[in-house]
Amino acid sequence: MPYSPLMTAQPSASRDPYLHQDVLAARTVFIAAKRADRPLDLERDPLDKPFVSRQNAAGDRRRAGCPFCAGNESLTPPDVLRVPAHSSVGDWHARIIPNRFPIVEDFSALLTDRSLDASAPRLAHGVHEVVIESATHEHSILAVEATRWCDVWNLCQRRLAMLAERSDLAWATVFKNSGRDSGASIEHLHSQLVALDFVPPVIAAELSAAQKTRQPFQDLLNHARDTGCVVAEVGDLVALVPPAPRQPFENWILPREPEPYFHLTSPERVRALATLTQLLVLKLERLVPGAAYNWWLHQAPFAKPPHKPAGNWHWHLEILPRLSDFAGFELATGCHVTTLSPRESARQLREA
Ligand SMILES: [Zn+2]
Ligand SMILES: [Zn+2]
Repeated sequence: MPYSPLMTAQPSASRDPYLHQDVLAARTVFIAAKRADRPLDLERDPLDKPFVSRQNAAGDRRRAGCPFCAGNESLTPPDVLRVPAHSSVGDWHARIIPNRFPIVEDFSALLTDRSLDASAPRLAHGVHEVVIESATHEHSILAVEATRWCDVWNLCQRRLAMLAERSDLAWATVFKNSGRDSGASIEHLHSQLVALDFVPPVIAAELSAAQKTRQPFQDLLNHARDTGCVVAEVGDLVALVPPAPRQPFENWILPREPEPYFHLTSPERVRALATLTQLLVLKLERLVPGAAYNWWLHQAPFAKPPHKPAGNWHWHLEILPRLSDFAGFELATGCHVTTLSPRESARQLREA
């Protein structure tokens, strides 16, 4: 089917979500009508309401009707993984469940439907899950004890390693929306895990840039050191402000040495990532109390044809505070405007 900017698909209800490509704008859009039905907890119950007011008389921080609180497991699909692995219902610390309002679904049985035309609308195939990061009704990662927070990252690592084995998936990420201005819809502490059957545009662009330079991430680390943009170092990991931050206090966490995959990293580096994520969120909270933020993991595409292992790649976590909206200029140009230089962002983060 030839590309047409006006092309639309009329997917049946059973075939939602769909993936649409606009080659002219280099844009990919997931049409996922079911997501319109997802609960919007944060609209009814803003984050600035003191958390203590929702505790019951016994001080139990579990909330009736919250699908993510321990004790309410019947409100969600069965979990895929949990910690501790053999914990009983209501006795877990973290768990991963299928997302009831997915951006992508497992359409393995229907993949013959795929068109040879890359720009034609097609079924959005993949895995979309929710990582419930606390059994109680917390809304900040700072409320999770450090060892248990490390367990959350271990759980994500195990799940990503399982997905990397699948021949139908090309790439996966874990991402977090924290606070209303980040796009979060449910207050209870959670992240999302998405695996796709294609390499998304942002990763393709990073890969393409990495192929043009011998050691792009090493250059980034050296540049951060030379310009005073290193914020913190724990074990083998470095937190830095990137050269072109989109918002004040944007920071990235990455290993010093090349390592394409977070799901293959060492237990020491997982611990360091857990420590640094809590440290950076604490610093952001001190600088801008209640700030919303997003983070996402960028790792290389799974090393299977046609993708080759990206030898000079460093997996990294990008943490983006959401202190101002993206507006017309950003949408019109793909450029960003921010008010704080990288060096000043890094200085304030270091001292917070
Ligand atoms: Zn809850
Ligand atoms: Zn990246």
